[in-house]
Amino acid sequence: VDAGKALETAGLRAASGSWERIGSFIHEQTERRDSLAYEIDGLVAKVDSIAYRDVLGYTGHHPRWALAYKFESPQAITTLLEIDIQVGRTGRVTPVARVKPAQVAGSTISNITLHNQEYINALELGIGDVVEISRRGDVIPAVERVIEKAEESPGVWRMPSHCPSCDTPLVERGAHTFCPNGQHCPAQILGRIEFFVSKGGMDIESFGPSTVADLLNLGVIEDIQDIYCIDYDRVLSGQPGYGPKKIALIKEGVEKSKDRPFRQVLVALGIAELGKKGADMLISNGLNSIDKLFDVAERNDVETLVSIDQIGEKSARLYIDALNDRDVRNRIEGLRLAGLSMEEEVEESTVKQMFAGQTWCITGTFEHFKPRDLALREVEKRGGKTTGSVTRNTTVLLAGPGAGSKLTKAQELGIRIIDEAAFLRMLSE
Ligand SMILES: [Zn+2]
Repeated sequence: VDAGKALETAGLRAASGSWERIGSFIHEQTERRDSLAYEIDGLVAKVDSIAYRDVLGYTGHHPRWALAYKFESPQAITTLLEIDIQVGRTGRVTPVARVKPAQVAGSTISNITLHNQEYINALELGIGDVVEISRRGDVIPAVERVIEKAEESPGVWRMPSHCPSCDTPLVERGAHTFCPNGQHCPAQILGRIEFFVSKGGMDIESFGPSTVADLLNLGVIEDIQDIYCIDYDRVLSGQPGYGPKKIALIKEGVEKSKDRPFRQVLVALGIAELGKKGADMLISNGLNSIDKLFDVAERNDVETLVSIDQIGEKSARLYIDALNDRDVRNRIEGLRLAGLSMEEEVEESTVKQMFAGQTWCITGTFEHFKPRDLALREVEKRGGKTTGSVTRNTTVLLAGPGAGSKLTKAQELGIRIIDEAAFLRMLSE
């Protein structure tokens, strides 16, 4: 069977040619790349004959009949002007490079995250240095290396000893630096409340970052639970930008958020590493109320948490520490008092566990599943595991239009790939 012909029949286009033509083909495609309607980060060359593929077979890692070519990351040279530090909602301190604005692959880059002190040490980076920057994988800006040290170099940049927001001495935890003043550090309070009201948190409509900032400035909010105690009419009436209509929308949004399910409240608390997936796993494994979670935390029961699929020891310890923290407890009790859901029923699984023992991964966009994680929930409901990246252990890659490197990888590894239509047929079986 000729794979190229088969693809053509299926309405897909593949370029074909001899081994000798690969070099010039890569060159042509590199030139064409910017004019394509979609982004590509590389090319895959494959043996065209399925019979030959069978003969060539696989190594432990990849098929012998396919080879991936990655385009080089586009780069530019610029100067490091300053390194600012940002304090996130969990207290983690991240140095951010401010560079002289430079064009890389069609976009202007002026800020680049530098992750932590170790990363800066490895680059031997100092203010005023001339640096090479890139967009890794064509997306994330990165400082690649120092091209030339500043003439009067102040030396390798050092993290300040105190939090720029609250002046508390900073502490090291693992590779990262933290401000330990979780409860009172203004930067952390702002970050915590912004996250709580955001789409990824409680999704409170009409309650954006500017409203959070205004309420903080007015001194009426110190923590997330205060959102449910504020008399918005009294506080916001007469404030610039807050007409009666806007105030009514905020009140309505706050009121509606009280009906959010427990799993959403749990995520909105902003506990480190406790995202949507973590909350789903806890709840579907019987830890479906805050009191059950408190109980696990009080007993320092790492075992129970680690026995849950996809919860590692590091996350388990972070959850326990957070749930035993006095300030976090106060926050949660405040929210409970406000009437937020602190438990939910676990639905009895009646659906056929058709994906049991399988590991699924997803890429691209989908018609029926927005966000696409909803498709993964269907897989999990049917007993399948889900992962964020394609590995040799992946059973199926669910691929929609706009699929990128995961698709390439799955093809290289010879992993089964199905599209949305086929997936929907499976679900309806
Ligand atoms: Zn601080």
